[in-house]
Amino acid sequence: MKCPKCGQEMIDIKDYCVNCGAKLKKESKGISLKALLLIFGLIIVVTVIACYLIMHYNTDKEIKPYIDNTKNNSVEK
Ligand SMILES: [Zn+2]
Repeated sequence: MKCPKCGQEMIDIKDYCVNCGAKLKKESKGISLKALLLIFGLIIVVTVIACYLIMHYNTDKEIKPYIDNTKNNSVEK
């Protein structure tokens, strides 16, 4: 890894350059990307669970009267 300011080659990766003292980015991008992926994954999981619950709620509402109708029809016959 090279210092972006003075171009000094650094063997040990530190928060600052040993040669000129310039502050270096310390994998902040990787951490934020992980956090983003974690949040994105959580959103997907929550959305899937919500869709699952909504679908079951809707099908329960739609199927029950249908079953009642078929039962009534079969009794009438
Ligand atoms: Zn430097």
